[in-house]
Amino acid sequence: MRKKLICALALIFACTALGACSPQKNDSRLTRHGEMLNTVVTLTTYGTDDEAILDGAFELCAEYEAILSRTAEGSDIYRINHSGGEPVAISDATAELIGLALDYAELSGGAFDPSIEPIVSLWDITSESPRVPGDDEINQALSRVDWRGITLEGNTVTLRPGMSMDLGAIAKGYIADRLRDYFSDAGVTGALINLGGNVLTYGKKPDGSPFTVGVQKPFASNEVIGAYRISDMALTTSGIYERYFEQDGAIYHHIMDPKTGRPVQNDVYSVTILSPHSVDGDALSTICFVLGADDGLALINSMDGIYAVYCMADGSLIFSEGAEAEWIDKSRLQ
Ligand code: ADP
Ligand code: MG
Repeated sequence: MRKKLICALALIFACTALGACSPQKNDSRLTRHGEMLNTVVTLTTYGTDDEAILDGAFELCAEYEAILSRTAEGSDIYRINHSGGEPVAISDATAELIGLALDYAELSGGAFDPSIEPIVSLWDITSESPRVPGDDEINQALSRVDWRGITLEGNTVTLRPGMSMDLGAIAKGYIADRLRDYFSDAGVTGALINLGGNVLTYGKKPDGSPFTVGVQKPFASNEVIGAYRISDMALTTSGIYERYFEQDGAIYHHIMDPKTGRPVQNDVYSVTILSPHSVDGDALSTICFVLGADDGLALINSMDGIYAVYCMADGSLIFSEGAEAEWIDKSRLQ
């Protein structure tokens, strides 16, 4: 595996604390934060003082948000979801991303389902007063979830009537990869791309060292349990501790089981994936969460160059083959 991994939670958490855009110059390192993609976006470039590169990167983010958002009127996904089963013409990027999402739906046996939108909307976990829906409501919404009802032909997508899409489990990873391409084209020698915890590292820091990216301790904000040192690699986490509500002592979070129409119930708190491409890490972190540790690790161990770390509810860590050797425990981080 690529031996250079990261820590960032220090970075990631600092980013979360800060809000609006605020450029900071630090030798040849530029960092900027922005609230986009329904999260906090932090972009850092190394080896350049050109602020215009960051301007362009945030514009690119906004362009992708405008086509991939589920809620922005006129976005590709909005138009698909309001098409009433009619074919919809979409951009190249949306078509590529839907194609990838369908591949992952198939690979995961439907654990990952880009047509999960009716269930996500029904639970509306992040609303002001979320509630546990009734069985009838869940069954009704579930009857509209089935990725096989999505037909993609070139740049045209058609949904079975009544269905709708949500690419929230994969879009940030896709956008991170496009930002990496942009930074590479712009001649930047290193960049740290952090889309709400989807971290992608490009190149190296000016001194040639890799990036250190931390893995957050579940339910303990600002605390990491360990880290990886990485370059040209993504570190992506799906966990239950960021978007959830509690009712009668139970936690209801935002990763849904397409079989039950309810938040996945298992002994996993979070899954972190290391992968060359962020889009794969994003899809696989969600998939591994839904599958649980046994099936998820079997899947990751069957894939070349991709690694996983499970944080379990009992506090233990479970690593895929090769992932423990590179792990830097918190006690070894200064
Ligand atoms: P985050 O967006 O917090 O980084 P994930 O990448 O795991 O976390 O994506 C979770 C989001 O994906 C949910 O908010 C929802 O929009 C969507 N989603 C939830 N469950 C599934 C699923 N089983 N398959 C596909 N998408 C899902
Ligand atoms: Mg994901």
